[in-house]
Amino acid sequence: MDPRGTAGQPGTDRGPQPASGPAGPAPDVRRRVPRTDALLRDPRLAEAAGRLGAPVVKAAVRQAQEGARTGRIPPQAVADEAVALLPDTSCGLRAVINATGVLLHTNLGRAPLSAAARRAVAEAAGPTDVELDLVTGVRARRGRTALRALHDRVPDAGGVHVVNNGAAALVLAATALAAGREIVISRGEMVEIGDGFRLPDLLAATGARLREVGTTNRTTAEDYAAAIGPETGFVLKVHPSNFRITGFTRAADVGDLAGLGVPVVVDIGSGLPAPHPLLPEEPDATTQLRAGASLVTASGDKLLGGPQCGLLLGEAGLVRTLARHPLARALRVDKLTLAALEATLTGPPTPTAEALTADPAALRVRADRLAAALGAFPAASPSEGGIDVRAVESVATVGGGGAPGVTLPSAALSLPEPFAAALRTGLIPVVGRLAGGRCLLDLRTVPPEDDARLAEAVRAAAGG
Ligand SMILES: *Cc1c(COP(=O)(O)O)cnc(C)c1O
Repeated sequence: MDPRGTAGQPGTDRGPQPASGPAGPAPDVRRRVPRTDALLRDPRLAEAAGRLGAPVVKAAVRQAQEGARTGRIPPQAVADEAVALLPDTSCGLRAVINATGVLLHTNLGRAPLSAAARRAVAEAAGPTDVELDLVTGVRARRGRTALRALHDRVPDAGGVHVVNNGAAALVLAATALAAGREIVISRGEMVEIGDGFRLPDLLAATGARLREVGTTNRTTAEDYAAAIGPETGFVLKVHPSNFRITGFTRAADVGDLAGLGVPVVVDIGSGLPAPHPLLPEEPDATTQLRAGASLVTASGDKLLGGPQCGLLLGEAGLVRTLARHPLARALRVDKLTLAALEATLTGPPTPTAEALTADPAALRVRADRLAAALGAFPAASPSEGGIDVRAVESVATVGGGGAPGVTLPSAALSLPEPFAAALRTGLIPVVGRLAGGRCLLDLRTVPPEDDARLAEAVRAAAGG
């Protein structure tokens, strides 16, 4: 934190003696920096210590003291500066505005929760009846209302279960149905999801053996049939959710595999409950189940637009076997996830759904409006010192959540490239993307209600 390593040293609030460089502030300025214990007695900081915890407040105090030591602020402003530096929460995670144009950005936590889901999380944060029937007073099935909501969304599933994430859903299926046996999988579906995470490695880690069939570009139902035998635990179909193979290709349909006498597990990835008109290539749970899948696995925080979790949807007996497997306990979700998932399923359209279906013309209107307001700040035009900003056409994508190759027409604010870093590190962090030497702020991934905050962040970045 303190580049000179003096922070926290007992009794050295003044920092080291100056290296007496020509740019360093005079020693008496350093001596006048208020001491930490005095600052912590400021009523505002004392209150904050009770609310946020002492370490958070001390970190803000140290940063403010550093501002005085370097001469950036006067010594009498340190307390005010420390108060201004206090975060809203005790958590290091910062809320950011996603202006990347990538709907489901893995580095930004994938799907943003709806207001309904956020409220549900807050409600469930305290003691809650997650495993208790309040009427009878006896223990009840954990997360039963969330599971019912999931079942209502995918009625073709005989049973449903929820685990930590999509990977956990696959691990549970592989462990319970194929440990020590074989999973038959096409060579074209041995995929790496991201950050070095490879599905074949994950599956092998459960003790199941992978029986590869077909080739990278072509695999037929006959390839699967020839590999099936007494050692087969199940056939696995994996949706290549982050790449596309085109040209001379062929893949077996779930319908062709359903009659082979072994369970067919389909990892659809993105978690669409039913077909989406804008994403015709993206698999959905209902279609796969109707085609004969025994089990569908998916993530909750991709196109479903909910919290991180893994969905297991399929034949009632199979899902029951998985839910009762000892490993299920290690993969179970907490009450906050169950609350957010249920509210996502039963509530109004998710932010992800809104972003996906936003009208490009409406996005352009917002961009024009924002550019006009910002271009006039602080002067009338860039030549007079205003912000060099213009509204431009843009292309958004779904991102890590699926629909590879799908582009969504969008509109963006175009700013000089140095804005990217200034916006990321501002009081309201904004993450845009760089293109053609400009910083683009794509409005498809920014909810309209955030436009005012976005403008505020751009003005702050311009001023700083
Ligand atoms: C995203 C994805 C996964 C992994 O899901 P997580 O929720 O990230 O664990 C597995 N399979 C496919 C096809 C995916 O798209």
